Amino acid sequence: MTRLAQTADLTDIQQEILSTVRTFVDKEIIPHAQELEHADAYPTEIVEGLKELGIFGLMIPEEYGGLGESLLTYALVVEEIARGWMSVSGVINTHFIVAYMVLQHGTAEQKERLLPRMATGEVRGAFSMSEPGLGSDVAGIRTKAVRQADGDYVIDGQKMWLTNGGSSTLVAALVRTDEGAEKAHQNLTTFLVEKPAGFGEVVPGLTIPGKIDKMGYKGVDTTELVFDGYRIGADAILGGVPGRGFAQMMDGVEVGRVNVAARACGISIRAFELAIQYAQQRETFGKPIAQHQAIAFQLAEMATKVEAAHALMVKAARLKDAGRRNDVEAGMAKLLASEYCAEVTTQSFRIHGGYGYSKEYEIERLMREAPFLLIGEGTSEIQKTIVSRGLLKEYALKR
Ligand SMILES: Cc1cc2nc3c(=O)[nH]c(=O)nc-3n(C[C@H](O)[C@H](O)[C@H](O)COP(=O)(O)OP(=O)(O)OC[C@H]3O[C@@H](n4cnc5c(N)ncnc54)[C@H](O)[C@@H]3O)c2cc1C
Repeated sequence: MTRLAQTADLTDIQQEILSTVRTFVDKEIIPHAQELEHADAYPTEIVEGLKELGIFGLMIPEEYGGLGESLLTYALVVEEIARGWMSVSGVINTHFIVAYMVLQHGTAEQKERLLPRMATGEVRGAFSMSEPGLGSDVAGIRTKAVRQADGDYVIDGQKMWLTNGGSSTLVAALVRTDEGAEKAHQNLTTFLVEKPAGFGEVVPGLTIPGKIDKMGYKGVDTTELVFDGYRIGADAILGGVPGRGFAQMMDGVEVGRVNVAARACGISIRAFELAIQYAQQRETFGKPIAQHQAIAFQLAEMATKVEAAHALMVKAARLKDAGRRNDVEAGMAKLLASEYCAEVTTQSFRIHGGYGYSKEYEIERLMREAPFLLIGEGTSEIQKTIVSRGLLKEYALKR
């Protein structure tokens, strides 16, 4: 059978990594995903397995102990993992964004101190922009860091929706430092907040209250973070210079968008696989439902959506790997893949008939995972804003 979403022109190393990850997903993730997800249990053993495979250091350069692979390799690995269980891709995604930001924007000291331990998964990253009062409108961040006479900063405020908030030991947090710049987004700074994993007041002035109870995407912890007079040194500023946080975070989310597109492709592939198997087993009116044209056409549509989303995701990743700007393509890929994922999971659910509504069937879980992708790393409306802005700039009329 031709597998969906095959990628052309991969190196031998990329193929080897993908084949290893695919086997791991089939053997170690898919058989356990339903049970762990329904119990909202953290996938500790799976995470240990990923550490052994070197996944936490996939894109970290070899000089810092990682595998030095490309964004494309990372995205294809994420696609495979999300085919097994999206929450596992959530465990690595914020880590990957933070490692990428440290690599691109960190000082030499920050890179040398953090990246080798991030490559092994000893240090685990979380990424924090959102607050209770804002998500899309990042420039409006209210959590504030005030510089003290001794050069340290004191942070007060509340952050929201930290994926891996409890299990991480390093949070890249975007806060307001008021650099006196005219534009609000130029007054934001990223702090690399190091903390122990866990919940409660983990260090003086920094509290992770507990897990947010979510509709899906269970197992991986999503939390709030409360700063209350939290003191941190100026050496924890990413890159050492305040006021650059907005651009650093946007760089991080841009690669994050390719990752979300990859996740959406992975879930869609799984939804398709489940549907095409079920449609050949379930019989109505004397024949397998796959032989009813209405169902066969659904399968054709689903596979076409998977291929289109995958192709756009691969294009966005390859542009970035080639050192070119990919904001428009990453926005397009995230938009298309997440919208298609919502459609494909719904189509698969409908093909399953009543059984799709039972917790015994995997499609029930995928149906609860897909909606998150419409929101995370920027909603569809925000992607359309980015894409249209880029297009209008590119096609601006010469007056
Ligand atoms: C499970 C989960 C995990 C998350 N993990 C993280 C994380 O690790 N780190 C992190 O920082 N954040 C995280 N988030 C937050 C996520 O990034 C935000 O939820 C998202 O950016 C949307 O922000 P919001 O929820 O505040 O919605 P809002 O910004 O309030 O938007 C509400 C609605 O208005 C629309 N809208 C907003 N502005 C416009 C506009 N200008 N034009 C048209 N429509 C508009 C939006 O599209 C949306 O439909 C997570 C969220 C969830 C649910």
